[in-house]
Amino acid sequence: MRNQLLRPFQYEKIELPKNNETTKGNSKTKDWAGTLRRLWGYLAAYQRKLLFVVLLVILSSALGLLGPFLIGIAIDRYLVTLDGQGLIYWLIGLLVVYILYSVTLWLQNMTMIQIAQRTIYSLRTQLFTHLHKLSIPFFDKRQHGELMSRATNDIENISSTLNTSVIQIISSVLTFIGILAVMLWLSPLLTALTLTIIPFMVFGMKWITKRTGTYFKEQQRHVGDMNGYIEETISGQKIVKTFSQEQRVIDEFYNKNQRLRKASFWAQTYSGFIPKLMNVLNNLSFTIIAAIGGVMALNQMISIGVIVIFTEYARQFTRPLNDLANQFNTLLSAVAGAERVFEMLDEPIERDVENAISLPSIKGDVTFNNVSFSYGEEKTLSNVSFEARAGETIALVGPTGAGKTTIINLLSRFYEFDSGQILLDGYDITKMKRENIRKQMAFVLQDTFLFEGTIRENIRYGKLKASDKEVEEAAKQANAHSFICKMTNGYDTVLSQDGGGISQGQRQLLAIARAILADPTLLILDEATSNIDTMTEIKIQEALQRLLKGRTSFVIAHRLNTVRQADKILVLQEGKVIEIGTHESLIEAKGHYFEMQAR
Ligand code: ADP
Repeated sequence: MRNQLLRPFQYEKIELPKNNETTKGNSKTKDWAGTLRRLWGYLAAYQRKLLFVVLLVILSSALGLLGPFLIGIAIDRYLVTLDGQGLIYWLIGLLVVYILYSVTLWLQNMTMIQIAQRTIYSLRTQLFTHLHKLSIPFFDKRQHGELMSRATNDIENISSTLNTSVIQIISSVLTFIGILAVMLWLSPLLTALTLTIIPFMVFGMKWITKRTGTYFKEQQRHVGDMNGYIEETISGQKIVKTFSQEQRVIDEFYNKNQRLRKASFWAQTYSGFIPKLMNVLNNLSFTIIAAIGGVMALNQMISIGVIVIFTEYARQFTRPLNDLANQFNTLLSAVAGAERVFEMLDEPIERDVENAISLPSIKGDVTFNNVSFSYGEEKTLSNVSFEARAGETIALVGPTGAGKTTIINLLSRFYEFDSGQILLDGYDITKMKRENIRKQMAFVLQDTFLFEGTIRENIRYGKLKASDKEVEEAAKQANAHSFICKMTNGYDTVLSQDGGGISQGQRQLLAIARAILADPTLLILDEATSNIDTMTEIKIQEALQRLLKGRTSFVIAHRLNTVRQADKILVLQEGKVIEIGTHESLIEAKGHYFEMQAR
């Protein structure tokens, strides 16, 4: 039977905080009380269970203290008097106490973990749901790694604190108070003597933690630095290889690894002193109790049993203090984590205006009236006006940074424009439901995002309810069917998240298949510029012709062919529409477009 009080005394090493992100920057909490209150809001649903846990903790702490106490009494009553039968009864009693103690420990842990996991489950669900309702500008402003850390590490921190710390903190406080009370009751003098080690302990711990703190921080910094470097070099493997930077990368890693080794050496060495110091102090208090207690027993001031109880309690005395100190750190980082999670939950979500219009199907007339927009200080679009009739293909051309993508971003309502009007079938898009607009749009972008899953699932993303037959039909239309069939598992071939295993051109074909399946009224197409072989290029062109037909399409065009066939060409420069017309009319006008073509 494992028993907290009877098991060999051992101080745990100070644990490295599990999460770099949390400790890296701000682990300071701005509003402790507010965050705790809010966290309590989640726990409050389990009030009864929590009360049950608290009762169990009280019971187990008392039972834990009772063990050594009973041993002491057994010594006085039965061992000293050599009463064998009495001793056996007493031992059975002791066994029952320890069995009960284990049962209460087991029950309290199980109940608390259940509460913690349910709480974390709802917090995680809430966070993920909220995350998907936030606007694109929110994601622009933040590092993805940092957001991911909130959704994973911070939540994990809260989870582990709820799992164990709550019980630990209550039981440490109770055990400490209990031990102190019983010791005082048995012998105030011996208690006072036992307490003399506390100042040494506090002083020694302070001395050590001051040093370990610095080294741990250093270690933490190097761990973060090294992890970041590993992540960067793995995700950037191709770049590393193409620039033949392997050796440089390895050398740099060697340096980082060295720094981490040194910092870890000192951090671990100093923190290794803590258990040693504690053992020395405990042995010291053991000696004091044995010596002074012995003298007191000889003078009939206390019994032998009391000395045994004291030595046992004194060994345990510092443990709750140490536990509390450890738990406090965990609690601090959990509260800091909770604060960051709540911060994200407080971010306002994308909301439609009240009584937003829902248009289940649209024709696809798009009008921009004097639309101006800026991402930040600088104006990105100024007074953009144009009209696209249902079914027309609009080519957006102009230098990089001219604002082509921004026009698409505004039409999709990823960003709110500052002034002007965008109309869809004559309706102001700011008065429409976002979901409604986006449902009638499909995107075929340069960098096709593929999810980890089969080809079939990836195409089906365009219309989740599509049958296998519809998926294959869309793939045929997109000229993707033949290459899919050549793959080992056909439509069931699993693609990795970065789409490894298929070419850039094939990814485009899959994106087109996805869009064909979605059958949108509005189509956004960002033509790929990169290395696509001629055969695939022809297939893409063909598939695009089919896709564009009958839809209002906005094409960020790079191919002359696409531009030529467009119904309207918008020439953009520095956020302004400088020319509008067909290929022929713009060539004839001999303006910017003409010059661009001549180049
Ligand atoms: P294009 O598609 O024509 O290459 P964009 O519409 O992407 O140009 O960009 C227009 C301008 O807006 C550029 O100067 C670009 O730096 C800026 N920009 C684009 N996206 C953002 C963003 N999310 N935040 C801030 N500025 C942006």
